[in-house]
Amino acid sequence: MSQMRKDIFSGEWVIFASNRKDKPYSYKHSNKIEENDKNICPFCPKNENLTPPTVYEIKNGDNWEIRVFENMYPAISPTDYESDNDNFYESIYGYGIHEIVVDTPEHTMDMSNFSNERFVKLFKVFIERIKFMRSQNNIEYIQIFKNNGPLAGASISHSHWQIMGISILAKEQERMLEAFKEHKNKTQRCIMCDIVKHEIEVKKRIISQNDFFVSLVPYASRQSFEVWIIPKRHVSTMPLLNQNELEALVSIFRDMIKRVQSLRDGISFNVCFQEEAKSFPNGLFHWYIKILPRIGTLAGFEQGTRCFINPVIPEFAAEFYRKK
Ligand SMILES: [Zn+2]
Ligand SMILES: [Zn+2]
Repeated sequence: MSQMRKDIFSGEWVIFASNRKDKPYSYKHSNKIEENDKNICPFCPKNENLTPPTVYEIKNGDNWEIRVFENMYPAISPTDYESDNDNFYESIYGYGIHEIVVDTPEHTMDMSNFSNERFVKLFKVFIERIKFMRSQNNIEYIQIFKNNGPLAGASISHSHWQIMGISILAKEQERMLEAFKEHKNKTQRCIMCDIVKHEIEVKKRIISQNDFFVSLVPYASRQSFEVWIIPKRHVSTMPLLNQNELEALVSIFRDMIKRVQSLRDGISFNVCFQEEAKSFPNGLFHWYIKILPRIGTLAGFEQGTRCFINPVIPEFAAEFYRKK
């Protein structure tokens, strides 16, 4: 069962997915990948029968290189709605598509060791899945993400990504939309294009750049050492990136992953691809990637106020990354 309930005070949606409490967990008591659970890893080749059927794959001869299937324990689903029949609060059916993308057949391969070619193929798989999900009715927003390591929420150590197509606009996207709209109305320009221009001028928070992309620590990042990778050209959705841009993205992305991993041995982190929502005015949004190292935790003040205390000033974080 999957149901979404709206918080009556914040207007934020919460997904309730009671089927997920039984999902397997392959990390024991350490951050390290378990080497000995290969036989039962559902993401390894020859264990495909332990997962739902393949919906998309990249083959290399008889074997798959990248495999996409529906999540065994979806947080949202196209079926099984159970209403709570409560008319005082707002709730909707937790409709959506929740897919897993296994990006390597090798059980213990870390993404930082992928070749450029594998990343280009992987990003093209994302583009195909975005196009597919955008073509489905009732899908409003598509979140591509990777939980790298147990502290980032990964439950299975074999490298993989997730794609969730959801039927609502989450508060985060709603706020982004407002900021993009407001800036456009005031200046006729894109707020993210202006951020990129400003950051390149002042240099303080830039980590690296190539012809097509820039990586930086955002001015008011809520989490320590947060990184954004932003295309220099105004691109509203990932499928609009051209071949040269995809290759440049792979090179800056790989480089940033290595720099993030230099923060701490075995560090957990999340990667989020921020897409244009379907109901955004066409072309208004500016696509980008967020990388969020898991350092520290939400403490009482953050829990009470939703106001984050970040002990690392972004200019320092950028300087640290630049030296790596
Ligand atoms: Zn495996
Ligand atoms: Zn822009």
